[in-house]
Formats: sequence, structure tokens, C-alpha cells
Amino acid sequence: MGLYRLVYYSVASDTLSLEDVKEISRKASLNNAKRAISGALLFCEGKFLQTLEGGIHEVNYTLSRIMQDSRHKDIKLLEFKRIAKRAFRGWDMSLVFFATAREFQAEYSKYSAVREFDPLALEPESCVELLHELVEKNKRNPLTMSAA
Ligand code: FAD
Repeated sequence: MGLYRLVYYSVASDTLSLEDVKEISRKASLNNAKRAISGALLFCEGKFLQTLEGGIHEVNYTLSRIMQDSRHKDIKLLEFKRIAKRAFRGWDMSLVFFATAREFQAEYSKYSAVREFDPLALEPESCVELLHELVEKNKRNPLTMSAA
């Protein structure tokens, strides 16, 4: 069966806390491991950017659950495509979070013409590369991440 990747962007509900986001990520990791899904989730300035990769049925099913979740809104599907290989192998759901995009400006400015965190202004491929860079950075030095 082919491997697929999705990328979407959404806005957190007004009441969502960083602890809630960590809980979403913990539960997502468990679910994704069961379905052989890998991926990453970025939370910044009350916005989510997520990529998921895996089998078409598993990714579609997970997307349908995510779309119904009231903990976020304004969900914009940026990409759903077949891919040759995983970028996040070994990561059921890697969470990275920043209070503002200034905290990852060095990485972000490579892909964006503007300073504000606006995933809609990025190429889907750039979203995945940015997420990958941030996950790798987090792996090397988790203490650089600050709470929202
Ligand atoms: P359940 O046992 O049904 O729910 C677990 C707990 O989560 C519930 O007790 C409740 O507190 C809370 N919850 C569940 N659904 C909702 C809801 N619609 N509204 C408010 N609270 C709710 N799931 C994944 O499996 N993989 C992912 O990669 C993933 N990424 C997510 C990214 C974001 C930004 C968000 C907001 C959610 C994500 N989720 C993900 C969660 C997904 O939307 C579903 O909540 C989850 O898949 C339900 O799994 P479950 O049936 O095992 O959990």
C-alpha cells in the first residue's frame, strides 16, 4: 500500500492551554503508533501546523477525527499527496511549541518572506522541511523550547 502525507494548518480554540496541547500530543502519539502514522505538530501563537504520513486509510481516518475536534478551528488542508518515503520515521507525533515565531526565526526565515508565523504563506514542502528542522533542533536541545 502506498505512503501518503498530509499537511494542514488550524487555529487553536480560544480556551486551549499548552497543557491541553501536550495532552492532545500524548494521545495522538498512542493512536498514531497503532496506525503506523508518523508526523509532527507545531504549536505557535495559537496556531497549529501538522504533518502526518502513513497509509491512505489511516491518514484519512485520522484526518476525519481531527476535522471534528472542537479544540481547534479554521482547518486548512495544505497538502495531501503520495510520497516516496517518510520524513518523520520513528516519530508517532513529535510536538514542538514556541510562544512566538521569533524563537525560530533562523529556521523560519529560510522559507518565509515575512516574519509573522503564517503557514498559509509557505509552500507545503517548506512546511514539512520547517517541521523537520524544528523536530531535529528539539531533539538536540529540548531546553531551548519555551512555553506559550
Ligand atoms: P478519545 O478517547 O475519544 O478522546 C480522548 C480525550 O480527548 C477525551 O476524553 C477528550 O477529553 C478529548 N477529546 C477527544 N475528542 C475531542 C473533541 N472532538 N473535542 C474536545 N475534546 C476531545 N489524534 C490522533 O489520533 N492523531 C493525531 O495526529 C492527532 N493530531 C491532532 C492535532 C490537533 C491540532 C488536534 C486538535 C487534535 C489531534 N488529534 C489527533 C486528536 C483527534 O482530533 C481526536 O481527538 C482523537 O483522534 C480521538 O482519539 P480517541 O478516539 O482515541 O480518543
